[in-house]
Amino acid sequence: MADKIRVTVWNENVHEKTHEEVRKMYPLGIHGAIAQYLAKQPDLEVRTATLDEPEHGLTESVLVETDVLTWWGHIAHGKVDDKVVARVQKRVLAGMGLIVLHSGHLSKIFRALMGTTGSLKWGAADEKERLWNLEPGHPITAGIGACIELPYEEMYGERFDIPTPDKLIFVSWFEGGAVFRSGCCWERGHGRIFYFQPGHETYPSLHNPEILRVITNAVRWARQRICIESTCVEVKPLEKISAKQM
Ligand code: ZN
Repeated sequence: MADKIRVTVWNENVHEKTHEEVRKMYPLGIHGAIAQYLAKQPDLEVRTATLDEPEHGLTESVLVETDVLTWWGHIAHGKVDDKVVARVQKRVLAGMGLIVLHSGHLSKIFRALMGTTGSLKWGAADEKERLWNLEPGHPITAGIGACIELPYEEMYGERFDIPTPDKLIFVSWFEGGAVFRSGCCWERGHGRIFYFQPGHETYPSLHNPEILRVITNAVRWARQRICIESTCVEVKPLEKISAKQM
């Protein structure tokens, strides 16, 4: 394994090109905002990839050099090539970490790894959100207090159609009354996966130092520790098996 954690920040990068409001909020793109923060961490080596690059910037060689992939997508989930999704899934099962952000709950890769629809209730009404920290001792909440308060976020509400998380890190309260499992951990194969809800494209959540701190912590938690492609192999018995009288 490399000394530094090699992170690839993936973004569909569509809203930034089509909506002035989003371009103003994220002039470097959502991927640029995340990558800029991560690149300041001495233990991380960061690159970005976007939908319109060949193979969406997620070629075999890029993925081989990636310990953790972060994923932001929204309106272009259907444009992500199934071959690339299969390649990413294979890498996660072999040990690569995956951080799925906000509307990535409907991405092909998240649904493939979860085996559920990823559907939820939503509403855009400039609501205040409080993300309650359920696991103050977990590496993902290092440096985070009892809760994170965001003045505005898009409401995501239950029921969120996911398998029960291996560990639930945050539960959110929204001003309008909804609650949501907003920070969830799973393992699939040898890979670690974290879903994190904040990050709507017209709100500054991905400039918020606490949100970026959680993403950074999650990258460290999900770092690839091993790379093993699991296959079925026939093995001979280690000991001599005595003939049985049937
Ligand atoms: Zn959104």
